[in-house]
Amino acid sequence: MNYFGLRVPPRREDRHPGTCLAYGGTLCGSKKGGRGCAMAADAERAFTQGSICPLLPAMGMMASLPDTVVLMHGGVGCGTCLHGTNGNVRAGFAARRGRPADIRWMSTALNEIDVISGGNEKLAQAIKEADAAFEPKAIFTVSGCLPAIIGDDIDAVAAQVQPEVKAKILPVHCEGFKSRFMATAYDAVYHAIGRNLLPSPSPTAVREEKTINIMNVGSMGRVDELELARLVGSLNLHANFFPVFADPDSFAAATQASLSICTCPTHDDYFLQYLQEKYGVPYIIRHMPIGIANTGAWLRDAGAHFGLSDIAESRIKAEEEDLGNALKEFLPLFKGKRVFISAGEFRSLATASLLKELGFEIAGIRSFHYDQFAELELDKLRADGQDFVWNVANVQPFEEANLLKRLKPDLFLGHWHGNNTAARLSIPTHVIYNTGYGYIGYRGVYDLAARLYRKLSNTSFGDRLGAYSQLPYKKSWYSKNPFLFIRSQSGEAIC
Ligand code: SF4
Repeated sequence: MNYFGLRVPPRREDRHPGTCLAYGGTLCGSKKGGRGCAMAADAERAFTQGSICPLLPAMGMMASLPDTVVLMHGGVGCGTCLHGTNGNVRAGFAARRGRPADIRWMSTALNEIDVISGGNEKLAQAIKEADAAFEPKAIFTVSGCLPAIIGDDIDAVAAQVQPEVKAKILPVHCEGFKSRFMATAYDAVYHAIGRNLLPSPSPTAVREEKTINIMNVGSMGRVDELELARLVGSLNLHANFFPVFADPDSFAAATQASLSICTCPTHDDYFLQYLQEKYGVPYIIRHMPIGIANTGAWLRDAGAHFGLSDIAESRIKAEEEDLGNALKEFLPLFKGKRVFISAGEFRSLATASLLKELGFEIAGIRSFHYDQFAELELDKLRADGQDFVWNVANVQPFEEANLLKRLKPDLFLGHWHGNNTAARLSIPTHVIYNTGYGYIGYRGVYDLAARLYRKLSNTSFGDRLGAYSQLPYKKSWYSKNPFLFIRSQSGEAIC
């Protein structure tokens, strides 16, 4: 069943009960069930230091689409994350289309008077201005919290204004207060694309037998796409990357492909189910191609679907041999080094598998949320019986600081903007993704290993940084349980 007939998509936590934002314990403990340190879907924090507005990933997806304008309908601060995203989008356009392009976005910047009198008229005017100024193919009209609270109707405004503008108007319901799970953002953007930008199913549409939709994500640079295109190309398949930076032709091609395969299971299930139901495109949601075994599993899945298992196996064998030889020089330095990883759910877990393959010991992982898709990846990490700290937290740097002080890892991998706590503790850091670098596929393993080798060969920058900076927490916090504030909704301490 899909939800694309609805005006507003459901929240991720309503589609996937058991999705969780607060867990503190160990990886193996999360499997126990019942009380103790097992996962508890109703877990909350009695104190929370921050959160992630779903607008952040939603804007990142929309802003990458060529010939579109993102029109933020909300308070003046909503959507300003795009200032930080612009460099990434410029680089993404340059890598994919030969020249950089700035994000085209506007805001209705609602004020106190609009809150009293309503913002519908301001939105209608802004849509016409965006259409005249940029002549885009589509305008995303994105609702922030404020219009949702005062009862503005972005769908009614879109319907009313549509006859007067050339661009297709796409209402997006991604209000920050709607959900605390940022994965809801992916569903909201896909909802708008699926309802408005895909062609109608046609009985005469030709199925592209050798085309595979590779569902990319905002954290995937062109270098990673080329690696995946190379891998499926070795099976004589053509890759159609979708939806990030996808041009309008890719939207139509997505409906005619023979298979869709995800690169981040938590990103795409909402849309892929719809693509299968409405256009008959089957899908695979299982592995993230980060790490040696995961890349092999991903390619094996794709090959099996097309009856090309033998070719896939021989390709995997050859790639693993080449990579194994290339990695030899790095491995002695990595052996036994302890690493802490912080990132979105799937990326954090798959990267932990990769780092284990390189000989690192996992000191801890902090994942931004947990949902059912993670179980397979968690089981891979549990398979060798090694246990370690696992924290599920929508950021919460105070927990991270406490954990890092205790665990004292040799290396920290986290998001851009997310490495400062570790850096101020003199822990060498590396970004978990940077769209200019490779992370995915066999090439990604090698590239990451080479960067970490350089990083760990000379730690003097981090050493000095830590000597001259400090964290804002009192000493007493570090003697307390880092998960002190995680509670069930009844207020009972969980850990
Ligand atoms: S939480 Fe609401 S008000 Fe805040 S940035 Fe997100 S949409 Fe805007």
